[in-house]
Amino acid sequence: MHHLPRDTGWLEVITGCMFSGKTEELIRRLNRARYARQKVLIFKPRIDARYSESSVVSHSKQELVAIAIDDASEMLSHALDAEVIGVDEAQFFGDKLVSVVERLANAGKRVVIAGLDQDYLGRPFAPIPHLMAVAEYVTKNLAICVRCGNPADRSQRLVARDATVVVGGTETYEARCRRCFDPSSATAGQRDLFAPSEPPPAAIADQRI
Ligand SMILES: [Zn+2]
Repeated sequence: MHHLPRDTGWLEVITGCMFSGKTEELIRRLNRARYARQKVLIFKPRIDARYSESSVVSHSKQELVAIAIDDASEMLSHALDAEVIGVDEAQFFGDKLVSVVERLANAGKRVVIAGLDQDYLGRPFAPIPHLMAVAEYVTKNLAICVRCGNPADRSQRLVARDATVVVGGTETYEARCRRCFDPSSATAGQRDLFAPSEPPPAAIADQRI
């Protein structure tokens, strides 16, 4: 980022699969702003209570104090005097997040959003794809496939459940590459439809849901 915008707000999206370092990158950017004495606020969905009720914590246990909210619109009343706004686990806020962060950026604020771009079946995970389209800056992080060591961009759910939102860490998910990702093993109703040695493309799994 050599040419930063001046006298305007903007959107930054940090995305990728689980264990790709999204939250660490969010914390790094927000800390850099805090060192410059900019007023920073961080929001996270209340649904995500994995590590701490009031902090944004990455898997590597870095930490920043965050405001847990139920609805994206709550950011508008909190963020009046903030210059930089961070949003962690943004995929849990739903489509409403798009209009909220657009308003904040239009009001002159820098908004840094971290979230998953694909769900447990490899489908685009709203609202991140939309945010990637309207953001000034997009960073897609890759993890390392736990199976083979290739660059990984998918989150393999290790427990068979049909819900899109199953919050968890290393016991529930692992990073997988395109070749090793197996969405058929991630849903309770789909387990025996595909041979384990031939993971189906995500699009085919989609049609069978
Ligand atoms: Zn792999």
